[in-house]
Amino acid sequence: MRIAVLSDIHANLAALEAVASDLPQVDQVWVLGDIVGYGPQPNEVIATLQAMGARSVLGNHDGAAIGTVDAAYFNPDARAAIEWTAARVDDNARAYIAALPEVRRDGELTAVHGSPRDPIWEYITGPSIAAANLDAFDTRLCLFGHTHLPMVYRALDGDVDATMGLPGERVELNGARALVNPGSVGQPRDGLPDAAYAILEADEADGTDGHAVEFRRVRYDIDTTQRLMHDLGLPPRLADRLRYGR
Ligand code: ZN
Repeated sequence: MRIAVLSDIHANLAALEAVASDLPQVDQVWVLGDIVGYGPQPNEVIATLQAMGARSVLGNHDGAAIGTVDAAYFNPDARAAIEWTAARVDDNARAYIAALPEVRRDGELTAVHGSPRDPIWEYITGPSIAAANLDAFDTRLCLFGHTHLPMVYRALDGDVDATMGLPGERVELNGARALVNPGSVGQPRDGLPDAAYAILEADEADGTDGHAVEFRRVRYDIDTTQRLMHDLGLPPRLADRLRYGR
């Protein structure tokens, strides 16, 4: 059993399409929120995820786009982009977002956007926050996003081991409980502009009891996304940062 794990697509259709064509044969696709916001094609991204049969959770930008999450904490560029998005989400996209759960569970897998104890807002940025959150879900694994950084936090002998998800790297989970972040499809922030996602390998017999995660990167046509953002009047800094992966 193989599961594609995507997060923080942020309405970047060119990046999502590149990931979709790079995907090996998988049994499921999980999406960890922030489907929209920042980028130029929210409706197209949601239609693509529907066609892929993605299992998605709600991110802070998704909720803000339909008015169910308060955008007061957004920085000015993020707020400008979310106001732009809110004015453009079509009925299908609005209904899709409105139906998203904050937490999704299946077998030994939990999925959230931010963290299991605060699915919308908390950033898991280091081992101590990860340690507190390892107590906040009861499945073997928890998939999360929000930081836009590929990472694995494994519970090992009462400690937390933090491993960056380097491109092409395969991280063994060895039955440990773990928090796994695939990085961001549509706005990477680890200094590499290529779209990030992960493949979770699980044993057939155990269903979703993952035993290894492979971190993948895909080049996509950044020019196309930047040009669209420029033409549609989205904040220039949001387009510029795609080039640098910051
Ligand atoms: Zn995000």
